[in-house]
Amino acid sequence: MVKIIIIANWKMNPATLTEAKRNFEIIKKGVRNIKKVEPVICAPFIFLPVLKATNYLKLGAQDCFLGERGPFTGEVSPKQLKSLGVGYVILGHSERRKHSGELTELVNRKIIAALGAGLKVIFCVGSETKKPGKEMRYQLKTGLKGVKKQDVAKLVFVYEPVWAISTSKNKVVATPQEALKGGLYIRDILGKIFDEETAKKAKIIYGGSVDSSNIRGFIKEGKMAGGLPGAASLDPHEFIRMVKAVDES
Ligand code: PEP
Repeated sequence: MVKIIIIANWKMNPATLTEAKRNFEIIKKGVRNIKKVEPVICAPFIFLPVLKATNYLKLGAQDCFLGERGPFTGEVSPKQLKSLGVGYVILGHSERRKHSGELTELVNRKIIAALGAGLKVIFCVGSETKKPGKEMRYQLKTGLKGVKKQDVAKLVFVYEPVWAISTSKNKVVATPQEALKGGLYIRDILGKIFDEETAKKAKIIYGGSVDSSNIRGFIKEGKMAGGLPGAASLDPHEFIRMVKAVDES
């Protein structure tokens, strides 16, 4: 059975290790008997060595750098993450583009490095414009340069329109139909970069103000393979509700 994936993006939260451990433990208990969903917690680097992944609750990072080790002050390599039991890494998030000036060319090198170290990549694409268009095409074409077709299965594509992120200034919650359009756009570009078969099989999820009241709509009507909640995932009980809402549907 192909599981629906629900990925919590904790961003730079919570404020303390004590809270991180407590929230992780609450989630661990709450999702223990889940069958149809793969829940993933993408926590800040500093908490990752302490939060232990299990076979039913996976761990992810929110960024990584290139190579295995070396003179890269402040950076963390995919191999270092892997050695902690981290399975996933978010790359290309719009907040890294906005606040850290990250360019798609660097995202591309990070994707190659992360795949090389055996991490699964959660590749976020999306723009400020309502309709998916050339910016997303550029993100996909540039971000995936040098990625082999057989490695596409190790990527989770996130359609994450910037205007739908809960903290964006003029936030509008996307409809499942808008998510569907974004997903179809990504699949179309993947078909052009790789081939139809690869595009058909690609895992595409939705991110942007996802919570327990709307996640089923994005999956059912939006035909998404899962969701990437940010703000709503900070409440461990709300995250469990999201996972259960999907598991029980
Ligand atoms: C995000 O930025 O990854 C995100 C999905 O945030 P939110 O759910 O808060 O919109």
